[in-house]
Formats: sequence, C-alpha cells, structure tokens
Amino acid sequence: MKKELTIKLNDKSKVEIAGGYPLITKDSLEDIDSLKEEGTILKLTDKQGRFVAKGYYGNQNKGVGWVLTRKAEEEVDQAFIERKLIDALRRRRDFFNDPDTNAFRLFNGEGDGFGGVIIDYYDEYFLVSWYSEGVYSFKEQLVAALHNVADFKGIYEKKRFDTKGQYIEDDDFVAGERGEFPLIVKENGVNFAIYLNDGAMTGIFLDQREVRQAIKEKYAEGKTVLNTFSYTGAFSVAAAIGGAAKTTSVDLAKRSNAKTIEQFSVNGIDYESQDILVMDVFNYFKYAKRKELKFDIVILDPPSFARSKKYTFSTSKDYTNLMKEAIAITEDRGVIVASTNSASFGMKKFKGFIGRAFKDLGRKYTIVEEYSLPPDFRVDPKFSEGNYLKVLFVKLN
Ligand code: SAH
Repeated sequence: MKKELTIKLNDKSKVEIAGGYPLITKDSLEDIDSLKEEGTILKLTDKQGRFVAKGYYGNQNKGVGWVLTRKAEEEVDQAFIERKLIDALRRRRDFFNDPDTNAFRLFNGEGDGFGGVIIDYYDEYFLVSWYSEGVYSFKEQLVAALHNVADFKGIYEKKRFDTKGQYIEDDDFVAGERGEFPLIVKENGVNFAIYLNDGAMTGIFLDQREVRQAIKEKYAEGKTVLNTFSYTGAFSVAAAIGGAAKTTSVDLAKRSNAKTIEQFSVNGIDYESQDILVMDVFNYFKYAKRKELKFDIVILDPPSFARSKKYTFSTSKDYTNLMKEAIAITEDRGVIVASTNSASFGMKKFKGFIGRAFKDLGRKYTIVEEYSLPPDFRVDPKFSEGNYLKVLFVKLN
C-alpha cells in the first residue's frame, strides 16, 4: 500500500483543479512542508477539508505532482493504471493497424490520465520514461499492468528524475526479452535505427512524424535541403526519400556524423551523395553566406537552450536572429521549416519571432502550414502547455 496524505489546496487552485487542471504546483498547496516522501498519494481538499481530487507527490520541473482522479472512492492502484493503459491502447488503434508505421507514443503522461510518465512504442518494445522519483514508485504496478493488458517483447526505461528532466545513466532494460540494437523501426515507410539502451535518446524524435511526412511528400522533390541542428539526420532522410536533389545536415555533436550515416544507410541511400557536417550551425551560416550558397528548403529545429564554445542559444531570445540567418541563405520562393519544442511560449509568440525577422530584413513571407503535436502525443485539453511543439512552414515571397 502506498502512503496517503491529506493536504489542503488554496482557494484559487481548488477551483482550477476541480475544473480539470491536472498539475499540482507548490503554489497550489497550503502546507507544502507536509510533503515528505515522493510517491505519496495526495488527497487534495479545499480549506474546509472537503474532497477535491487525488494525485501523487513527485517533484518535476513542472510542479510537485499530478492529479489522477476527481472521484473520492477511486483507488490509485494497479487496476487504475490498467484502465488508463487500456484507454491509451484503444486510442492508438489506428497506429497499431498502420502497416507503414511502428514507432509512436503509446502513453503521453497527463494527456492519457497519468502525468509524469510516458511510454513510447518501438516495434513491440516499450520505452517508459519516468519524470520523477514519485512516479517511479509506481514502476512495479505499471510493469505488472503492462503484462496484463498489452503485448510486447520487452520493456526499457529512462529515468529523468532531476527537476531539469536530466537522464540518469543506467542499464535501461526492465522486463521481457532484451532487444538487439539498432532496432529498425518504420515511420510512414521510412526506416530508422533505434537504440533503447544507449543513453538518454533513442535516435529519433517521434513528435516530428507529421513534419517529416510533409517534407517527404510535399516539399522535398527536386530541392536542395539544409537541415540544421540535424542530430541523427531524420529530416534529411525524409527529404532524401522524398526525392530531394541533395541534403546537407549540420550538427555540432561528433556522434551525429556516424548516426546520420547510419540512418541513410538503413534506407539504402548512399550517404556519400549527401553532405553531413559536424560543425556549429552559426559558423555554417557564415560559411554559406561567404560562399553564396542558397537552399530551397532550410530546416531549423534547435534545442530550447544550447551552449557551444562560441555561442549560447536560447529559443525565446534568439529565434528571430536564427530565422534571419536562415532567410539569408534561402532561395526566393524557398521554404523555411521553423520548429521549436520550447514549452515556455505559445504559437502566437512564435509567429511573432518569425514575423519580426522578416520585418527587420524588409522581406515578405507566407505561412503555408503549421503543425503541433500529432494525435499519439495526446494533450489534456485543460493543460494546453503540454502541447509544446510548434512548427511553421514559411515560404519566402
Ligand atoms: N532536428 C533533430 C533534433 C535536434 S536535437 C531531429 O528532428 O531529429 C538538437 C541538436 O542540436 C542536437 O543534436 C545538438 O547536438 C545540436 N546542437 C546544439 N547546438 C548546436 C549548434 N550551435 N550547432 C549545431 N548543432 C547544435
């Protein structure tokens, strides 16, 4: 049995949480000091002691826990977790039935009714990411629940406990059979090499599936494509398969070179016909300007925050400048794919950064498409900040 603690909400949070808001923050509680052990079940009441909701205590960058139910009698036990999983599996039926895709998000935290934990599906393997010590205390129950309600070959995990979501290095195997890596998964017919037991990241960001598909199907044909902050080159591979004349991938991380070669190779593309550069994108912009290089498509997908030897980049401060650099090396009528995963601002502000860049340069543009999270990254309608992804296809007029 898990420990339980009755704790009072202040008046404002009582209204919000009763109305569906799922996050418990420090500010929402009257007596934050009574929180002791992560994983404790919290019975949240109003100041008069009347029941409002049940959740758990788990420190995460976003808050100190998540609401799990607003029914006083509902127990948070293995059966509860099984019910959430069954719902989540049912909502992904189309993904399970899609012969061209076998990598997607199976369970998206609060969007699927249990904040702090996500499960990704990679061709019959589950990857569970835990975002607090508190949610990790449900591990035994979650694993047992998965055995009861889902079919899989094996389970791996990523512990991202500290408040910055930092990954804790470990053997990440949990249950079932061990996989052989790279695992070759499919996304809309494109192959990707995946590693579930090799550090924090797997080799692909599943949330960009629709963007990769759009590049492949609607934009790449016959075009020159520059992919900045390219990581394993997933956008470049999509573009090459979509018929790009040539792709250029630029990333600072040394390992990105071998990783990108691998992603091209598992798709039967000769990587030597593509450019893969290990360098700072800000230096690349300078180089491209000096050489008067221009691209039909430029992809910008920076991390929210990055520091290299010479430059510090923070999305909310520097996106406009990044965009100006991109505009300078994009052909007239070319397209910039501007992406950010920063949860600290919304689409409106992001469009503001883009608009500012064009205004400063005295250029005109049209936003031809916009994307946010795909449906497997289910968002709680009462927690729209969970929909962090913003991608704009911007055409230079
Ligand atoms: N666009 C990628 C994901 C990008 S992750 C995809 O869709 O798969 C962010 C990447 O930016 C990391 O691989 C990191 O190495 C790289 N990076 C961070 N700062 C950089 C810089 N100044 N120049 C080049 N790459 C950088």
